[in-house]
Amino acid sequence: MTTRPRILIAECMQEISSFNPLAGDFDNFHIERGQDMLAQDGINSSLGGALAVFRETGMDPVLTISARSGSAGILMAQAWQRLAGEVLASIAAQAGSGIDGVYFSLHGAMAAEGELDPEGYLLAETRKLIGPNVPIVISLDLHGILTDRMLKQINGVTIYHTYPHVDFASTGQRAARVLHRLVTEKIRPTIARVVIPALVRGDELITKSGCYGELIREARRLELEGVAMSAGIMIGNPFTDVPELCCQVVVATAGDAAVAEQEALRLAREFWPLRHRMQGKLISLDRAIAQASSISGPVIFTDAADATSSGATGDSNLILRGLRDAGYRKKVLAQIVDPMAAAAAHRAGVGARIDVSLGGAIDAKRFAPMHVSARVRLLSDGQARLETMKLGLEAGPTAVLEFDNFTVVVFSRTLTLLDRAMYYANGLDPTDFDLTVVKSPHTEHHMYDAWVDNNFNVDVPGATSANLKTLGHTICARPMYPLDADAGFEPRAVIYRS
Ligand SMILES: [Zn+2]
Repeated sequence: MTTRPRILIAECMQEISSFNPLAGDFDNFHIERGQDMLAQDGINSSLGGALAVFRETGMDPVLTISARSGSAGILMAQAWQRLAGEVLASIAAQAGSGIDGVYFSLHGAMAAEGELDPEGYLLAETRKLIGPNVPIVISLDLHGILTDRMLKQINGVTIYHTYPHVDFASTGQRAARVLHRLVTEKIRPTIARVVIPALVRGDELITKSGCYGELIREARRLELEGVAMSAGIMIGNPFTDVPELCCQVVVATAGDAAVAEQEALRLAREFWPLRHRMQGKLISLDRAIAQASSISGPVIFTDAADATSSGATGDSNLILRGLRDAGYRKKVLAQIVDPMAAAAAHRAGVGARIDVSLGGAIDAKRFAPMHVSARVRLLSDGQARLETMKLGLEAGPTAVLEFDNFTVVVFSRTLTLLDRAMYYANGLDPTDFDLTVVKSPHTEHHMYDAWVDNNFNVDVPGATSANLKTLGHTICARPMYPLDADAGFEPRAVIYRS
């Protein structure tokens, strides 16, 4: 190729929980168009990583649209139609301009009312626009659901290799390198997929220390040694109840179907017996409070059931209520989504005392309002940046309320809570407290686990509970472990050839 290859770039990322009662809206999405997408250049995101490789390898990016949303409930039908329309119109506007390759940055765990495979739809429509011969490479979160429809449209895929996720940029870099090879070497790749009927959760998924990480390192080795162009093990988001929700091994080679199949089957066979270990180990709230009371050092209560980063509402007050009812006296730090309480605090002003209800503002079926008489300690605009990705967070009007031994950050909007960013942004340091509530299943080790005496993974209800059987899946294929304890596994590879 004498001229520089032109790479069409698009992005659409969201993760939803089907068990969140509030449907998501178009306004949840942060949209960047054309050159504005370069805002991600240099940050730890898949698109940011891919842009760097396109520059290094002399490929010209043709920027179309990036739509990213924090996690939420299922996307409402009208919002999905508008989103899909805008994404595809942006791609259509460039599709005829001599495109040599497509990079589509996706999460993989979207679902919309009337469309349970939004990524599959976007890729199928993109394929129609771009034609049959232009390679399409995607990147995905390991919590995504890679479907048959998606696999039929693509020529390459890279998947995160870390959890908690820290390799956003490198996953984009890997995708860009695969695409560079497909564009310059005219390879016809083969992708092997093995579906494993299991949903997994818990500490064994932490890739640095858990058994999932041992298998991911095998997938990485296949990539590093050049056996595979890419390899990964996806675990899906167990809360995205869609037909193809599952765990799956994906191995892509430069054309050798036998190697792709053999390695995908090997990793899937190794994964299956580990499914029992890869389940959430939860402690009852009463027991956690009793034990926390007798521990002298700091502790965290992990409220993974209300993990906004997995699609929960963030308005659970069950741990706060439990601590108060049990008479826990040490210093507690927590955060909660409650727009009415935040607004009341902003009306009253710093230093004022207000009587408000906290929690149950969105998921009223699971959480009853908890009445508190609190002092307004601090007010903010709710802006922060995620610690690892440096992406902006917008909680809307935010207040720090104090009552009894509790300090609670109250947000107006559900937002991604997977690190300490919102505590720091509101003048709070978890190390100043005896007990901190963390609404994320896992955080990076240094954030909490490195310095607390214990991390209690509390079993309370929520839209993203690790107690998967309590959620009520109705759409995913059955039997599925652990929803069906006797689910069996007959390893079978499906091969996709470009
Ligand atoms: Zn993820």
